[in-house]
Amino acid sequence: MRHLVLVLGDQLDPASAALDGHDPAVDALWMAEVRAESTHVRSHRIRTALFLSAMRHYRDAARTAGRTVHYRALGEHDAETLAAALAADLARLRPERCRVVLPGEHRVLELLRATCAAAGIPLDVLPDRHFFTTPEEFGAWAQGRRELRMEFFYRWVRKRTDVLMEDGEPAGGAWNFDQDNRQPFGAQGPGMLPAPLAFPPDAVTREVLGLVMREFPDHPGDLTRFDWPVTPAEAEDALQDFIRHRLAAFGPYQDALWTGEPWLYHSRLSAALNLKLLDPRRVVAAAEAAWRDDGLPIASVEGFIRQILGWREYVRGLYWTRMPAYAGHNALDAHQPLPAFYWTGDTDYACLRDAIGQTLQLGYAHHIQRLMVTGLFALLLGVEPRAVHQWYLGVYVDAVEWVELPNTLGMSQFADGGVLASKPYIASGKYLARMGNACGQCRYRPDRATGADACPFTTLYWDFLDRHEARFRNHPRLALQVKNLARLDAAERTRIRAAADSIRSRLAAE
Ligand code: FAD
Repeated sequence: MRHLVLVLGDQLDPASAALDGHDPAVDALWMAEVRAESTHVRSHRIRTALFLSAMRHYRDAARTAGRTVHYRALGEHDAETLAAALAADLARLRPERCRVVLPGEHRVLELLRATCAAAGIPLDVLPDRHFFTTPEEFGAWAQGRRELRMEFFYRWVRKRTDVLMEDGEPAGGAWNFDQDNRQPFGAQGPGMLPAPLAFPPDAVTREVLGLVMREFPDHPGDLTRFDWPVTPAEAEDALQDFIRHRLAAFGPYQDALWTGEPWLYHSRLSAALNLKLLDPRRVVAAAEAAWRDDGLPIASVEGFIRQILGWREYVRGLYWTRMPAYAGHNALDAHQPLPAFYWTGDTDYACLRDAIGQTLQLGYAHHIQRLMVTGLFALLLGVEPRAVHQWYLGVYVDAVEWVELPNTLGMSQFADGGVLASKPYIASGKYLARMGNACGQCRYRPDRATGADACPFTTLYWDFLDRHEARFRNHPRLALQVKNLARLDAAERTRIRAAADSIRSRLAAE
């Protein structure tokens, strides 16, 4: 055998660089389902099922195309880890070289390197062409900048790719239209929402669902609700469905919350993108065409494209240029354990009950639920960033470390001290009352920081400012909030500290 091409569960890109010059007469593919990848963080059953089903569909398509695939199915081999499965097959197959596209996780890159080195087989690590930018290009862009800001990176990528540009200027006359976005639904709620296209499990997926149920009986996730796209063709249908039915309203409502409505106007495309069933160029081009040809509002189209061309590329660049040190940051010195209710949803805080309940059932929460409900609560409470990271990496269908870690550690927990985001995303319960309806179903009052009915977000918001007053007193974007803290009298500040301490001790004991 000449090349053994290692295809990981998030590398199901039919146009992958690892297949350049692939000759089925002398080359083969290698794929493995291993238990440890679902247990090193406690993986949601829908996440595991999605990966395994998409991998099996990829395997079948590759075999139909005449390729040899050495496939290790879960339950049919006894290697616990990816390293053990690969070591066993390298000893058996003895390829001249192994090839792999840059994995989505630093840990996996290291284990592949170590396993191939131990077997004495050279490993070629190839660039991932799925992305618009490479980590090296990100590094060159970041070089010499005092601060890294997504907005400037995004403008740089827009110019380079000519996306939403007209004669060198941003289409519509502005780089972003956030003043038109960020609306709540109002008291009447979202009304009739267009249900996203569902993909009922086929025979391959049904077999995987049974397997996952047997192998991971105590992991979260309701497999009777599995309806994710698992092939490139299904992912394309999901994209078309989003462009036709939800993109127009994506912008205005991208920050809105509504209990019992998990999808709102979000695309649900992250998992298909991250498994590489869907090419981001295709997604961005389809969205841009919806504005140019079909007159969809620029505010929605630009807002959506920014998430993919901007945030998604930016966090990946940051990940690969900062790892492995990035994972260890804890700039705010946070050491509280993750509350037990993150694994049960059993809490009387209505917004958290809704976001966590939905997460545990579906493996999905939209961005504002992740950032401003579960993430915000952990930040204000002062939870150890690594514990928060492990939860997010386990519970979401789209979770792969290159995208999850910077979002969790940087954006949501400010654990990198301001590398990714210029300030911590902090807010009191009043923000949640403005953006959604959960407060109306909650026994706590967002306008109260102390007392029996005080909203814990509001108590912990003031406590956060109190604890970090010295750090943020002169911060250009937070100084005003710190000034408001100074308006509280000493007795109120003492009461807030005591209330926050009591929330912390109660949750740590649960
Ligand atoms: P939409 O709201 O429809 O957005 C469109 C697309 O833009 C998404 O599919 C995604 O590919 C991209 N996107 C949007 N926001 C971001 C972002 N901040 N970073 C990178 N890409 C983005 N996204 C993941 O793909 N995997 C994760 O593991 C993940 N973990 C997160 C953890 C935290 C704490 C936070 C705050 C955000 C996380 N995100 C993650 C980003 C974002 O929340 C999800 O991409 C989004 O909710 C997925 O749902 P959607 O496809 O309906 O997205």
